[in-house]
Amino acid sequence: GTVIHTNLGRALLPDRVTDKLQRILTQPSTLEFDLTTGRRGERDSIVEQQICELTGAEAATVVNNNAAAVMLVLNSLAAGKEVPISRGELVEIGGSFRIPEVMASSGCKLVEVGATNRTHLKDYQQALSPATGCLMKVHTSNYEIRGFTAEVPQAELATLAHNNDLPMVVDLGSGTVVNLEQWQLPHEPTVQEAIADGADLITFSGDKLLGGPQAGLIAGKKVLIDQLRKNPLKRALRVDKITLALLHEVLQIYLTSDDLPADLPSLGILTRSADAMEAQARRLQPAISKRLGDDWGCTVVPCQGQIGSGALPLESLPGWGIAVKSLPSSGQGKRLNQLAGLLRALPVPVIGRISDGALILDVRCLTDEAGFLHQLDQLAL
Ligand SMILES: *Cc1c(COP(=O)(O)O)cnc(C)c1O
Repeated sequence: GTVIHTNLGRALLPDRVTDKLQRILTQPSTLEFDLTTGRRGERDSIVEQQICELTGAEAATVVNNNAAAVMLVLNSLAAGKEVPISRGELVEIGGSFRIPEVMASSGCKLVEVGATNRTHLKDYQQALSPATGCLMKVHTSNYEIRGFTAEVPQAELATLAHNNDLPMVVDLGSGTVVNLEQWQLPHEPTVQEAIADGADLITFSGDKLLGGPQAGLIAGKKVLIDQLRKNPLKRALRVDKITLALLHEVLQIYLTSDDLPADLPSLGILTRSADAMEAQARRLQPAISKRLGDDWGCTVVPCQGQIGSGALPLESLPGWGIAVKSLPSSGQGKRLNQLAGLLRALPVPVIGRISDGALILDVRCLTDEAGFLHQLDQLAL
């Protein structure tokens, strides 16, 4: 039920994207070769134009992931300088990505402003000094502060930055280039909105809501992107030709598709209709029940999925699934986590989640129904 799960490889790529891989892997490509001049070219140019066309940015570049994008931006713009940031945005994303640590690794001095729940424009104003390198806003993707709260809108922060001749950076995290509300999904901030608000550089992930390969995309002002390209870190953080080829194909889908959910698997899964999921759960219920045997009860239940990867964590995606419970007739009761372990040990692992005394198999992400049942045939209960 978690569509873009960091532990399960994040976004799924469309088949048509992987078809292109064969040629890239086995033949030379113009990765860093400019056919017009016959000289060395820029590695990112095949995707830069696409990112600019999609987002309205002047320039763009790509690195290994969004964590790398944030590091490269901070190191290029503010190494040895101060970066004021709201105490409400000092987030940990998971793994060891924490804004204070990333700042330190990038050679910047973090200046905390405001309070955890409330930060005002005057807090940033007071934090400005001749040593300030840039202003930054981090999209607190994986948690939310509710109640007595205040944050400075990115447009106001951008104005403050520009009035002080400073660049304004936004780490969007998930970041999308389309308005998800058109598919009745919750709103997730877009790159276009950040640009319209005056952000000078925006960083976002390639394999979260964008639905592409692992990458960190940086879009924004040309002078700043040029500055990033000159940083030796850029070379260390650069992406390989396979990533670039995959990203190129995915961005091409955004530029040409008139039915994105049909062409991008992660968006297709996010926008699945409740009716289709309920029908699938009802179809699977007797088949699962038969394979698990008499000790287990299987019922069709509504359940709550998630976008995942920290995007909109409080917004659940209503879906359908099968709840598996141990029946009283099975003696002392078979243990649910034992069943979950057996399912995970299948040649193609089946991963459910235990909630309220049941193992929930959310069907949202289940595309290969026959393959799934074939796996269950191999269960040694
Ligand atoms: C996910 C996320 C990151 C890290 O991105 P990766 O692509 O996983 O490296 C950084 N900042 C924010 C706000 C995020 O949500």
